[in-house]
Amino acid sequence: MQYFSTRNRTQTVSASQAIAQGLAADGGLFVPERFPQVELAELCEKSYPEMAQAILGRYLTEYPAAFLPAVLPAVYGAPFAGKAGCAVPVSEDTWALELWHGPTCAFKDYALQLLPKLLVQAKKNLGRTETTRILVATSGDTGKAALEGFRDVEGTEIAVFYPQDGTSVIQRMQMATQEGKNVAVYAVKGNFDDAQTGVKRVFARASEPDFAAALSAQNVRLSSANSINWGRLVPQIVYYFAAYAQLVRAGTVKLGQPVDFCVPTGNFGDILAGWYAKQMGLPVGMLVCASNRNNVLTDFLSTGTYNARRAFYKTTSPSMDILISSNLERLLYHISGSDTAVAGWMRQLKEAGRYTVDDTTLAALQNSFACGCADDEQVAEEIRMQYQKHHYLCDPHTAVAFRVARLWREKAGRTAPMVVLSTASPFKFPRSVLEALGCAAPANDFDAMHALEAKTGCAAPQSLSVLSDKQERFTERIAPADIRAAALKSCKQ
Ligand SMILES: *Cc1c(COP(=O)(O)O)cnc(C)c1O
Repeated sequence: MQYFSTRNRTQTVSASQAIAQGLAADGGLFVPERFPQVELAELCEKSYPEMAQAILGRYLTEYPAAFLPAVLPAVYGAPFAGKAGCAVPVSEDTWALELWHGPTCAFKDYALQLLPKLLVQAKKNLGRTETTRILVATSGDTGKAALEGFRDVEGTEIAVFYPQDGTSVIQRMQMATQEGKNVAVYAVKGNFDDAQTGVKRVFARASEPDFAAALSAQNVRLSSANSINWGRLVPQIVYYFAAYAQLVRAGTVKLGQPVDFCVPTGNFGDILAGWYAKQMGLPVGMLVCASNRNNVLTDFLSTGTYNARRAFYKTTSPSMDILISSNLERLLYHISGSDTAVAGWMRQLKEAGRYTVDDTTLAALQNSFACGCADDEQVAEEIRMQYQKHHYLCDPHTAVAFRVARLWREKAGRTAPMVVLSTASPFKFPRSVLEALGCAAPANDFDAMHALEAKTGCAAPQSLSVLSDKQERFTERIAPADIRAAALKSCKQ
């Protein structure tokens, strides 16, 4: 299997190159040359690690045959408490695909537990021996999931930069208490944009002579773990199949009947994996793209115009507070089939902050994708309704999707079963959830976590509840201008 850039399909690379490199040299994203077909009945019989092996094996064709069977059972076993890809019925015809049973209680664990292993093997496949230093700017979830994934992975180091007042207390404690011998965590004096711009600047300057010399003296190459890497996208295809298999087993659908999925969306990676699953032969009906008040994708999928020049809102679902949804570029390539069209749209996005796709492309997008959005008040209402009516406790990200799914089904008169992707544990956002349930939320996140446990009788995941007793390991605060110097420092502790 070969990959090429969404902006130029003449130059192909292997999966190892795509994963080691992250972004194509022309700024495009790597996409697979075709979608391998799977035998659905056979796949539905498999365990989660076996399913992952069958799917990933078709994309990582030059990896040694023994690699996936050696790593997948450990990656998707104990760290996910035996609940990898677990779907639960919530109400009539609606299921929640609970993707937060991993070590950091967010769905990003599915990709970030595996990516380090894919990267180490990719380097072996390519005969490269340098140390990879991963730099991550995070608003919360990605940083912790990446730290957990890369900790103590041989041949790698990871440095995470988060805005000092930009995360929840729980998210900050998750990172500040991180264990591992190859990790570093910095609070940046500024907001998320300051942290992200600082990290982007480091990458942009990595080729300057003095900087490059300093890195090569350490035998280090910089890399990123953000969601545009193919190695982060491909593991996410698996849980769509896993969810479907459970609906078949429960008798909710017969093998081959369509299921709709609704996905709380930010960077468009999670929902795109669902579209990939559909191309591989999974009976996906519609994919519903759910946004919060930052509804740039709702507007795009409704009108064909992507307009990033708009107000940015901080919401109760912070991991979806995004104006430039990077992975959409991959879908635009697959749907339009034109690398030159994609390159043109992306140039317009960069220069003018907007682009408009042609009518044929828009119609094809609308064939597979529905959309909708919900603001914070509607999200709180949905959390309360799901809890009171169905005894289902969900986090604000998941609630965005529940609400959008519910209204869309009613309006479109859909009867196919609906799977809502549940992307974070409600205990990661205890204050918002408590307030949604009509309770006064204590100012401290940990007090709020206990109050939410007391109110609902549900236990918080242990990895979160133990945090308040843990020693903070990383307390360094740096100015955005010092990110460059931090990037040159070894993360070895
Ligand atoms: C990252 C994240 C999302 C958005 O996923 P994308 O792949 O960026 O669309 C949704 N919910 C939670 C909890 C997340 O951490």
